[in-house]
Amino acid sequence: MSFRTLRILFLLFSLVIISGITYWESMVVRNWHRPMEVAIYPVNGDGSGEVDKYISALKQDDFSEIGLFIASQSERYRGKSLPAVNIRLAETIRTLPPSFPEGPRSTFSAVKWSLSLRRFAFEHTPFWRSLGVIRLFVVYHLGEDGVPLQHSLGLHKGLVGVVHAFALDRQKAQNNVVITHELFHALGASDKYDTANQPIYPEGFADREGPRYPQHMAEIMAGRIAITPEVARIPAGLEECVVGYKTAWEINW
Ligand SMILES: [Zn+2]
Repeated sequence: MSFRTLRILFLLFSLVIISGITYWESMVVRNWHRPMEVAIYPVNGDGSGEVDKYISALKQDDFSEIGLFIASQSERYRGKSLPAVNIRLAETIRTLPPSFPEGPRSTFSAVKWSLSLRRFAFEHTPFWRSLGVIRLFVVYHLGEDGVPLQHSLGLHKGLVGVVHAFALDRQKAQNNVVITHELFHALGASDKYDTANQPIYPEGFADREGPRYPQHMAEIMAGRIAITPEVARIPAGLEECVVGYKTAWEINW
């Protein structure tokens, strides 16, 4: 056997192993039989001292409402509570995760990005301790008022995601909405808003029984509360969000 054949065989072998592990992990996590483990890795998005200060003041408790939200929402669908959701604030990572390539999205660019994110996760988090753990890289920015952050992205059923968040105390509740949204992507949920950022009816609407407009809550994967067909507002926090029927089905509730 030539060296080249050996190398290709080795690459194929690694690919099979990686896909196998990912598939197994996602099956185990998505059957909701054991407590779900989520590790939040903060990253300084603009390298400023203010963001460093904000990150070092973060506490595990800042994220606990995500676990409470999942517990109360899952009960509505499953009739009983799930094993606890453990959200752990992990160590700060000094390198930025790969950003999604600019320009038109193709399957090729998506695959390339997902491989580079997997590689980033492999290089910056402990391998054995991360098995079956959902890893979220939360990139904090000082941000400018009115200027939206880069779009957060999670790997569909890949248990890894990148969240862009504001390094501001008054933004903590909304950051938890974005983190939960990405967490649900990592568990297999799809977006429920259209190209104009408007929630899609019916799956992106929290209340499908009453009048369609205005809504008072946001479906977590729609990300916004539909006020009129053209206007939607961002929820203040998870207390204004629900998990809709389609998302519940996608994450296996
Ligand atoms: Zn999304």
